[in-house]
Amino acid sequence: MIVPELPADVRALKEAVGRFVEAEVYPLEARIAERGSIDAAELAALRRKARDEGFAMLNMPADVGGRELSMLGQVALEEESGKATNGLGFAVVDRGPRELYEIATAEQIERYVLPIVRGEYREAWALTEPGAGSDLTGLEATAVRDGDEWFLDGEKWFVTSEGDPGVYIVLAVAEGEQTLFLVDPGSAGLEVRRTPGFLHDPYLDHHPEITFANCRVPDANRIPASGDAGAKEWILVERLFIAARCCGAALRLVDLTTEWAKKREAFGSPIAEYQGVSFPLADSLTELHAARLLTYHAAHAFDVLSDRSIVHGKVAMAKLYASEMAGHVADRAVQAFGGRGYMVENPAGRFYRELRVDRIWEGTSEIQRWVISRGVFKRGAAPYLGWE
Ligand SMILES: Cc1cc2nc3c(=O)[nH]c(=O)nc-3n(C[C@H](O)[C@H](O)[C@H](O)COP(=O)(O)OP(=O)(O)OC[C@H]3O[C@@H](n4cnc5c(N)ncnc54)[C@H](O)[C@@H]3O)c2cc1C
Repeated sequence: MIVPELPADVRALKEAVGRFVEAEVYPLEARIAERGSIDAAELAALRRKARDEGFAMLNMPADVGGRELSMLGQVALEEESGKATNGLGFAVVDRGPRELYEIATAEQIERYVLPIVRGEYREAWALTEPGAGSDLTGLEATAVRDGDEWFLDGEKWFVTSEGDPGVYIVLAVAEGEQTLFLVDPGSAGLEVRRTPGFLHDPYLDHHPEITFANCRVPDANRIPASGDAGAKEWILVERLFIAARCCGAALRLVDLTTEWAKKREAFGSPIAEYQGVSFPLADSLTELHAARLLTYHAAHAFDVLSDRSIVHGKVAMAKLYASEMAGHVADRAVQAFGGRGYMVENPAGRFYRELRVDRIWEGTSEIQRWVISRGVFKRGAAPYLGWE
């Protein structure tokens, strides 16, 4: 099956999230564009309201208060959140730390996962280093055992979190193996060295650089089952969500461009009548449709396929295609709006800037191509195209 029908409850949720984004987020975006910054109180209120609507933690298992939504269902909701600019969608569909839950011990779940589920704080994943991004085999952070503690040393970049996280999930080499550690932000030896600016600012998340120098971490905070497999699972899921958000963004851009092209006149006619405007729009809609099919299909494969290698390949195709598609769609939308497209107050202008990172984070487009090509050389094309 290429893409199954969304169940009725997921369809209803998707519509509710879509209505919420339009009613609550779009006006907030406009205020941010005017002010040039995100107001922390407004953001907290948005998050609270979305939580009250029941949009948070839907991916988590029932035993910790979640709704155990399928990946297909989550992608359908994430698509709606992708319609928001400034990263505000993250505050609406507030996904829980499912990948951490899967690998953490019962005691770690109690101490670190449950507070996130209750909305007390958020987590931040720290994998990337100055010398290791695409190629995490070059990781230099180390953890050295000392009795029932570990000394953590290293430097992590782009550690994404909204405000101060409640826990860092840090990948380091321990006794020759890549291992994940849960690190409390107040730990001695942990320093947030710099919080650089990024093209998508003002944005919900910040991406600071942090260092660890002789940072003591109790053995109880080492995730025993992790290796790099835990990190890979997080990356896999994030890739799917990037693809889904890109589809949501592109849909909003196609709608905005359509509406504008019908009413803007030049040389005596609506610009919609000029093929220079209408054909790029046709390309955008066609590419968006293809990206949505790839993304929903990859999400369904995530839910039903036991062979993770095939799932990785399908997710890589979705992430690659959807992120490149969204970049093209944003570029065409800016062009159709003319000078107005270059204004920050226009969502097209904001998306043009913000969507660029989707071709970089959680694996660049080149890395997705590498995953796909490695798969086809190993297994042939057929397993990646199958939809049984
Ligand atoms: C805003 C933002 C937020 C982020 N958040 C997080 C986070 O929360 N946690 C975290 O751990 N990381 C995070 N990252 C890091 C992100 O995942 C990396 O930037 C990304 O994986 C690329 O790594 P790099 O920047 O080191 O680029 P490099 O690996 O140095 O790549 C440089 C260039 O070389 C190309 N390249 C590399 N290898 C190959 C190859 N084999 N074949 C062809 N081309 C290749 C790349 O495609 C790229 O174009 C974030 C990054 C950004 C920008």
